[in-house]
Amino acid sequence: MDLFTGSERAQKYIEDLTAFMTDRVYPAEAVYQEQMRAAGAPHHHPQILEDLKTEARERGLWNLFHPHPQWGPGLTNLEYAPLAEIMGRSPALAPEACNCAAPDTGNMEVFTLFGTEEHKQRWLEPLLAGTIRSAFAMTEPDVASSDATNIEMSMRRDGDDYLLNGRKWFASNALHANCKVLIVMGKTDPDALPHRQQSMMVVPIDAPGVLVVRNLPVFGYSDREGHAEIVFDNVRVPSRDVLAGEGEGFAISQARLGPGRIHHCMRAIGMAERALELMCRRAESRSTFGAKLSERANIQDWIAEARIEIEQTRLLTLKAAWMMDTVGNKQARVEIAAIKVAAPNMALKIVDRAIQLHGAGGVTEDFPLASFWAHLRTLRLADGPDEVHKRSIARAELGKYRQRGSAKA
Ligand SMILES: Cc1cc2nc3c(=O)[nH]c(=O)nc-3n(C[C@H](O)[C@H](O)[C@H](O)COP(=O)(O)OP(=O)(O)OC[C@H]3O[C@@H](n4cnc5c(N)ncnc54)[C@H](O)[C@@H]3O)c2cc1C
Repeated sequence: MDLFTGSERAQKYIEDLTAFMTDRVYPAEAVYQEQMRAAGAPHHHPQILEDLKTEARERGLWNLFHPHPQWGPGLTNLEYAPLAEIMGRSPALAPEACNCAAPDTGNMEVFTLFGTEEHKQRWLEPLLAGTIRSAFAMTEPDVASSDATNIEMSMRRDGDDYLLNGRKWFASNALHANCKVLIVMGKTDPDALPHRQQSMMVVPIDAPGVLVVRNLPVFGYSDREGHAEIVFDNVRVPSRDVLAGEGEGFAISQARLGPGRIHHCMRAIGMAERALELMCRRAESRSTFGAKLSERANIQDWIAEARIEIEQTRLLTLKAAWMMDTVGNKQARVEIAAIKVAAPNMALKIVDRAIQLHGAGGVTEDFPLASFWAHLRTLRLADGPDEVHKRSIARAELGKYRQRGSAKA
């Protein structure tokens, strides 16, 4: 497949998805706002989303992310990249409408790779059908969680079960009206080697002892899916719900985060494209001091820079996708880390300039820019802060010279 033109089937999905966005998703944005406002509850699940889900399914735009042909169209990362970008243009609606929203995509992949037959039936199938949703609970308020070896939640063996005790926060999606299941990471053996201490377990959100304490608003936004603080108080989990066995938690978290990260980056590029489009339309339609904004040199400079930076970041993202497809997620880790830093920062800069160009309107809900900004800013933390990814890139780069013994040279 050609990096620039894509495969024939990818082209077809691009056309169909673009048509769906134009016919149904963009016009639904105002309806969505209205239904959320009318409900007056931040975690309300509006009817418009169910309508969009039905239509996306009918159009064959469902589970596009899933790389396994048994469960989805079986697209490669390179084929999926432009589709995630297109969905990213309307991040509150399109990913969920097409059943391609985080963190479900990552969780579905975990159930596919590490779940038992029972997990697949009970959780994976309804997730793939879009009838339930899920959350991933790793981060804890009391420890620096960007280093996953710090995670403290206790998962203590008790007969055939485990007892879970601890506090998590920022479990995204846990307040979604349809959230039914959590994948939880904790420590089963604090004495094992640092990367063998952790395990992942499947916990129904209504299990006795699971207490969703509060939602954490982000820059004042109470996101519909929610970012939950959750207390686990003697939560009993049968040993059959340990994913892939004791001590595998760290390895699963690495497997889970690769594809999830690239999806976030692709959607960030979509947000940057939409911001650039809004910037151009606004610059063409408003005048100050006798000239259109689009005629000002500094604004042309912003527009040109935005185009250059989007193209650069897209190329790097496609390279990472291509490497994931050809040499695997592990070998692609430097490229994945690089785009995880590059894409949100690039998109933030463009969205910030688009906000500036829109004047006061830019910070309101009349345009999607303010919410894009808030979301993109959190992406510099979620799925690993910039600094942690840069650390990995620098270590890989320095490692090349250490291996050759160039320190002496
Ligand atoms: C909107 C949002 C959604 C999220 N969703 C989820 C979710 O669904 N599930 C989940 O488990 N978690 C989720 N998270 C949490 C996220 O993954 C963590 O915030 C992140 O891993 C950082 O952990 P921490 O907050 O404990 O920061 P800490 O580990 O305390 O780090 C704080 C800061 O220290 C700096 N730092 C860390 N290490 C280094 C280093 N080696 N060198 C230099 N500087 C360093 C970085 O600037 C970092 O931001 C979400 C976060 C946000 C904001």
